[in-house]
Amino acid sequence: MLEAIELVGSTQQELQAFVESIGETAYRGRQLFNALQHRRLRSFEEMTELPKDLRNRLNSIALASTLTVESRYISEDGTRRYLMKTHDKLPVETVFIPEERRDTICFSSQSGCPLQCTFCLTAQLGLLRSLTPGEIVEQILIALNDAYGVGVKPPRGTNLVGMGAGEPFLNLDSLMKALRIMADPQGLHIVPNRVTVSTAGVVPRIREFAEISDRPHLAISLAAPTDELRDELMPINKKWPLNELLDACKEFEQTLRPGERFTFEYVMLAGVNDSENHARQLANLLNRHALRAKVNLIPHNPAEPLPYKSSSEEVVENFKATLESKGISTYVRRPRGRDIFAACGQLAAMPAESVSSAVEVNAVPR
Ligand code: SAH
Repeated sequence: MLEAIELVGSTQQELQAFVESIGETAYRGRQLFNALQHRRLRSFEEMTELPKDLRNRLNSIALASTLTVESRYISEDGTRRYLMKTHDKLPVETVFIPEERRDTICFSSQSGCPLQCTFCLTAQLGLLRSLTPGEIVEQILIALNDAYGVGVKPPRGTNLVGMGAGEPFLNLDSLMKALRIMADPQGLHIVPNRVTVSTAGVVPRIREFAEISDRPHLAISLAAPTDELRDELMPINKKWPLNELLDACKEFEQTLRPGERFTFEYVMLAGVNDSENHARQLANLLNRHALRAKVNLIPHNPAEPLPYKSSSEEVVENFKATLESKGISTYVRRPRGRDIFAACGQLAAMPAESVSSAVEVNAVPR
């Protein structure tokens, strides 16, 4: 446990209460929130609008940041991967993906992951621990500061995806608190409508999530159209099999706002789950449950020592055509940052020596 209080994981109201508890006015709490979340400052020394003695006191009892960046890798396609460490030396990875009209930041909800999906490299780390709300928020602050400069307003919108390491629905409270902090208009102001969270299918949490009014968008990782195959690829299926999962999805669908849809993700593994028969089974499964969700096909991102290959472009296109012929809207996700181990399922604290084409920069901004 940290002895000092970590302040990035506090809402504006909590910071006001905190400064009042040390004899300051609520105004100082609002200043502190602005410094941390709007100006994205990572140390009290830089908060020169606060009186020096307050900065000194804060320094002795609290922390303005806890994650440190170990390395940064920049892909040929502009994607950036950050390998960070928590105060207790555990790996945290975040990916910044620039796009034409917006940027997407893929953040981690846990260090490592307890699920044992056979196609995902993060699974090999096991669960190290769940991240705190502050550690989730800090990932976004660090990525934005690095991309645009400390406190500089991003020129495009920022979307967030909870698709990095970990299973967000096994850390839902911390995740939701981080999202509340980030939604504050006086801070990062990234509203839930710009956020998508992906789950491997923790059924009770999907039901809980459906009840939250200011929730982000949802994506569900399927990877297989039958229990037999899904049991093998995603062992969580033994606990919550497809019928239970899709029943919960149907309940969730009934709570969607007008025009809102949710997504199924389907990783394409050559010769394993990518045949025309699999596509038909998947379409029938979704149609049987009367789900109107769309499907995102994700070509597998290979990573030693995973025993899979990515389906060919042609196979992916045929799979998509079969789904669409049965009325399922389907998108193919273009992989980003594969060369630096930043793509889906490649986050496993990969050290520099394994990343041949990457540019490693040690002098990264805090
Ligand atoms: N635990 C959550 C979020 C992290 S994974 C979940 O399972 O949804 C984010 C997405 O990447 C999931 O859809 C997952 O199935 C997919 N994925 C995992 N490993 C992959 C790989 N090697 N290549 C492509 N996609 C992968």
